[in-house]
Amino acid sequence: MADEMAEIRLFDSHCHVNFSHYTDDRDAMFERMAAGGVEGCTVVAVDLDHVHELKALAEARDNVWFSVGVHPNHEAETEPDVDTLCKLAEHPRCVAIGETGMDFFREHVSPAIQERRFRTHIRAAKTAGKPVIVHNREADIASLRILSEEGVGECGGIMHCFSSDWETASQAIDLGMSISFSGNVTFKRNDELRGVAEKVPDELLMIETDSPYLAPVPCRGKRNEPAYVRYVAECIAQVRGISLAQLAMQTTMNSRQRFII
Ligand SMILES: [Zn+2]
Ligand SMILES: [Zn+2]
Repeated sequence: MADEMAEIRLFDSHCHVNFSHYTDDRDAMFERMAAGGVEGCTVVAVDLDHVHELKALAEARDNVWFSVGVHPNHEAETEPDVDTLCKLAEHPRCVAIGETGMDFFREHVSPAIQERRFRTHIRAAKTAGKPVIVHNREADIASLRILSEEGVGECGGIMHCFSSDWETASQAIDLGMSISFSGNVTFKRNDELRGVAEKVPDELLMIETDSPYLAPVPCRGKRNEPAYVRYVAECIAQVRGISLAQLAMQTTMNSRQRFII
């Protein structure tokens, strides 16, 4: 068992562990992450007001990195511009721009503003030479169109919490994106999504928790945390017919290459 544990090296490519959900047990949560074979994580920004929290987490731990960006559904007082994003991204532990994208499921922010903000983030990612983290919810056509028009291939990026069909995945891949799966790939009804996870090319497959949301089976409904990325990995390893250790090694290598760490 101990040997088996030693071979598992996972990476949570997308989590929000700066949130207040972890105020009472953040150190213990990071300990469980390491004990569970999760060697690193990227803490993803949803606004610019809390970037200092992400920075502090990454500066305090050598297995934590962060991104800068404004979520498509965040009601911002001022819109981020390319210069501001690039300036923040100069931090040596900042590995990506985002999360950004299009969300037609919850339109707190109008589609027009989401689109302008998304374009700004892709331009910043290209300027900064870092990948863009894309949130796409019920907006496949718009997201792909904008990624294509902005020439995202120059910086590449990640379709995070992928929840769409294979057609969307393959078009995103053609544009230069990796595909990252979260806990919803483990949900009983999501056979089609598992079918997508089976088909993504080895070198473009990533995994995440999107903590504190979307805890995978068997923790569904609870607060999520990076240690649970193992359940996402187990599910996808099974679907692809490979060992957990193999899946972990591949996705960790892919995360490190994408984030250039
Ligand atoms: Zn998201
Ligand atoms: Zn997120």
